[in-house]
Amino acid sequence: MRISKEDALDLFKNAPLPLLCQKANEEKEKRHGKNVFWVNNRQINYTNVCVLHCSFCSFSKIKKSDANAYDWNLQEITEKARDAVRGGARELHIVGGLHPDHPFEYYIEMLSSLRKDFPGVNLKAFTAVEICHFAKLSGRHVREVLADLKNAGLDALPGGGAELLSEEIRHRICGKKESGAEWLEVHREAHKMGIPTNATMLFGHIESIEDRLEHLELLRNLQDEAPGFFAFIPLVYHPEKNALGIRVKEKTSEEDILRTIAVSRLYLDNFPHIKAYWIQTGISTAMKALHAGASDLDGTIMEEKITHAAGAETAIGMSPERMRSLIREEGLVPVERDALYDVIQ
Ligand code: SF4
Repeated sequence: MRISKEDALDLFKNAPLPLLCQKANEEKEKRHGKNVFWVNNRQINYTNVCVLHCSFCSFSKIKKSDANAYDWNLQEITEKARDAVRGGARELHIVGGLHPDHPFEYYIEMLSSLRKDFPGVNLKAFTAVEICHFAKLSGRHVREVLADLKNAGLDALPGGGAELLSEEIRHRICGKKESGAEWLEVHREAHKMGIPTNATMLFGHIESIEDRLEHLELLRNLQDEAPGFFAFIPLVYHPEKNALGIRVKEKTSEEDILRTIAVSRLYLDNFPHIKAYWIQTGISTAMKALHAGASDLDGTIMEEKITHAAGAETAIGMSPERMRSLIREEGLVPVERDALYDVIQ
């Protein structure tokens, strides 16, 4: 039977951690047995220049002239993709800042040329925030923007930009960003058009557990109404080199991460997967999360920039061999997938 938000809150606050993890693991095993999914992928964070200044973000640079600001051209992006495809990548995960100069056509060209050069690779590209930015740039409706991107080769949306959908917290940590309702609307439109997506949640900063559950409730409702989410991805806030870090000095605890993943598995009964994003949780906590409801480790990544700008201590990528052996060491079965969760034989 479906659990209520109140049940989830009670579990989060009062259930002993081993019992909570066990219940979530049972739910995970009902869906996927001992399987743990992963993808050979590459992140392409094509620019860090961004017109917004979200208080939790250590990645973005306000001015193109800032030291460490960068903006890869299409040739550089293609080279990085080629390198990844040579290494067996099945997914390109493409997200970046909201660059002040590039027109919408630039992003269409980016996808079209990657699609032409690498027809067998999934293009999982652009957060809902980038999609809204493209709509403003082009003066078109989100639906039309998504249709153009799909025609150019878009396979899926990665799910970033959700942060906290609770409007009060969202206003305090990224008031200039699209509202939570707008984020949901982009994903609703994408699902209706047959573009699958994921959903993230940035946690471990100034939000309450109630705020997290409100976020989960909005996601569960949308998945009921317009199904299309593959995975829920809790993202751990990292406090280095960003304005929010003045108030929140430390990354949240392992127990908080495991409770969040476990409760997400129990509450989001209509989501196929909960991800343990190892880049952010750290590998040791990600391995524990595989016994607490998580069924996906994300991927090999190759070059992660966003969380590392905020102090992540993990490597910026991982080999496929290490990914498989980490999963096997937990007594679980590694299953390689692509961005659409088709299994790679
Ligand atoms: S989180 Fe995204 S939108 Fe916000 S400042 Fe960073 S790059 Fe820009």
